[in-house]
Amino acid sequence: MTYSILIVDDDIAIKESVEEYLKILSYEVKSALNARDALTILKTFDADMVLTDIMMQGMDGLELTKKIKARFDTDVMVMTGYSADYSYEEAVKAGASDFIFKPFRFEELDLRIKRVLRESEFKKERTLLLKEMEQLAITDGLTGLYNSRQFFHQIKQEIKRYDRYSRSLSLMILDIDFFKHYNDTWGHLEGDKVLMHIGRIINDCMRSMDTAYRYGGEEFAILLPETDLKMACVVGARIKDNIADEVFRPEPGKTQSVTVSIGASELVDGEDFTAFIKRTDKAMYKSKQTGRNKLTYS
Ligand code: GH3
Ligand code: MG
Ligand code: MG
Repeated sequence: MTYSILIVDDDIAIKESVEEYLKILSYEVKSALNARDALTILKTFDADMVLTDIMMQGMDGLELTKKIKARFDTDVMVMTGYSADYSYEEAVKAGASDFIFKPFRFEELDLRIKRVLRESEFKKERTLLLKEMEQLAITDGLTGLYNSRQFFHQIKQEIKRYDRYSRSLSLMILDIDFFKHYNDTWGHLEGDKVLMHIGRIINDCMRSMDTAYRYGGEEFAILLPETDLKMACVVGARIKDNIADEVFRPEPGKTQSVTVSIGASELVDGEDFTAFIKRTDKAMYKSKQTGRNKLTYS
């Protein structure tokens, strides 16, 4: 991987010698004679590091460092010839990753650059890993939908939004009909395929602001912000029909269809999340009691 470095120094001799040395070491290098030009270059040059002098006419290196850290995801190393004028502490406070005194040996500069770049890579990897772990913690492994933990978190958030801005909020709960029988007939693995497929159908039928959750073993929930009951029922009917129309092939030559029972409701003033879920659940059970493959609203 080629790293890119921007050198900023108003001393042409230093700027050019550092530039030449870093180019020999195969870095992609650009340079500027002042801070203002450096900031302009950074708009189009995606530098991994900025190596800047501190004492410069106009904006000095510390001010430049602060501006870079506020606007770009780039490491900064500062160079100074006057150890008494600027401290390491000041440079770090401004956001610099390292500090080097002039005159320096190029070998030392190279070692310091490599260390900063390596640390930066580690930091990026850690951030990525953390993001992945956060995503995993809220995702259902089988369907790829959000899990029940995220459902309880999100429904509370949405209710807060409702209370604050009076935006309508609807909820649907879906339960697969006679799923135990499906598992007993075709096996648990075939049942899992049905769950995955239903997850996909729900995802395809939802609008962009809706979120779907695998709420229990064979139960799903959908939160529909800014949606009244009538609209929620339209979305629910579409999901119900698309699931019923799907043909599953649990064994070669065998076809099977699956249906779901749905409960839908819209949040009313003063209702908390448990009451809201209970009311929706009741509507779903009514769909079960009155024939299944149905949507009941409450
Ligand atoms: P009803 O129409 O009343 O909902 O009947 P049902 O058989 O779907 O309901 P019941 O609650 O009796 O059974 C739910 C079944 O869901 C039992 C269980 O085997 C199945 N199930 C739950 N989680 C999973 C899962 O992760 N994978 C598979 N394959 N099946 C699951
Ligand atoms: Mg169930
Ligand atoms: Mg069921």
